[in-house]
Amino acid sequence: MAEKIVRNAEKKEAPTAQKAAAAGKQAAGTVKKPAAAKKPAQTIVMPNKPTGGSTVGLRIGACVLWLLAIVCEVFGIMALMGYFYPPFHLSQLAFLIIMIVLDLALAILAAQLWKKANRIKPMSEKRGKLLFYLWNELGVIMACICFIPLIVLLLKNDKLDKKSKTIAAIVAIVALLITGAASADYHPITAEQKEEAEQQITTNVYWTQFGHKYHLNADEENGCPYIRTSTVYEGSVTEAIESGRTTICSYCAAHYAEEMGLQLQSLNVEDAEDTEQERPVDTTPATADSTEG
Ligand SMILES: [Zn+2]
Repeated sequence: MAEKIVRNAEKKEAPTAQKAAAAGKQAAGTVKKPAAAKKPAQTIVMPNKPTGGSTVGLRIGACVLWLLAIVCEVFGIMALMGYFYPPFHLSQLAFLIIMIVLDLALAILAAQLWKKANRIKPMSEKRGKLLFYLWNELGVIMACICFIPLIVLLLKNDKLDKKSKTIAAIVAIVALLITGAASADYHPITAEQKEEAEQQITTNVYWTQFGHKYHLNADEENGCPYIRTSTVYEGSVTEAIESGRTTICSYCAAHYAEEMGLQLQSLNVEDAEDTEQERPVDTTPATADSTEG
């Protein structure tokens, strides 16, 4: 993806942004913008590649990596139980730690593929809340499977000396926490929400490197003040969602959605209280004054 981006030194003239901004001049005349908002210096336009492709490869890849992670766990358990002597004259503890680290790396990688697949082809909310949750948080469930049996057996084990046992248990528990945190999907999207966003938002949207929302207007003058990074990504809403930006920024929803004719109730809008990395500290919270009809 990185090789295919188009770099523009100048801010790209976005027809949507300008239209929305022009319309917003009268309507949002009272809007107070933080003075310190930094202007974007560079916009990276995404290649608008055709999306919605098959996610079978990603899901198979995730399952294979999870399976390999479990294999590492099993090797660690077998060494712990004394089924074999660790190779290369490694101590039991050293071998165990290597297996735990491999287990962690494979499980985290698997979860990233799984999350990517869920952005490309999200699950329908019609399947029910529980199934939707389990499907999206499969990475957390797998993290538990990849570490908890090992941790339990480690704590029960009496063959290891006390010091090695303590070190191995701490490493395994920390690995479980890291893997769980890295595997969780904090902003899952439903198939309906994605479809709705694609139908309603036909113009380009904007996002930043570390933000998890997409913005409707990145105009330097009248655009969203929460875009404060110097590099802004521009692309279709499909691209924004598939790169992990599943929700509309609350400021953009309150200030630009109405002019663009968006039906916000059927779209995924970020909580106004939710903090984000690019959020300015000196801003007044986005009010719902322009969204109420
Ligand atoms: Zn915004």
